[in-house]
Amino acid sequence: MRLVTRSSVSLAEQRREQSRRRRVAAGTLGESFPHVQQLRIRLAFQDSAGPGPTGQIHDVYPSAPALFEFPCPHGGCDGGFDLTDAARTLMRASKPYAEGSQQCGGSRASQGPVRQPCTLRLSYRIAVQFEPAAGK
Ligand SMILES: [Zn+2]
Repeated sequence: MRLVTRSSVSLAEQRREQSRRRRVAAGTLGESFPHVQQLRIRLAFQDSAGPGPTGQIHDVYPSAPALFEFPCPHGGCDGGFDLTDAARTLMRASKPYAEGSQQCGGSRASQGPVRQPCTLRLSYRIAVQFEPAAGK
């Protein structure tokens, strides 16, 4: 077993590793929610300082990890958005869609060397396509 000291591993690397472990632990969408065919997640961003980053659409299939984390689209920001709870709640409730918003809790360099809170706002819409009910 390889031991690494805290100082030799960057925070970003630690985060990537933690995220990888969470994805493995979460299992796949198909395992956790066999009645779900597909998930479509739309992300729209609003920046207080001007036009936000381009929106995104993510299609998630049963073979994908049942974990819905998205890094902040601002380059250099260490934050991100976690829609895992929202998506899981939605699929458990067997509802077709959910909407909500989150604020980035990360920080990024703006002017000068001092990092500023990011505060980018995300508006999301999660739509679920369920398996057709198995008829009797
Ligand atoms: Zn951010």
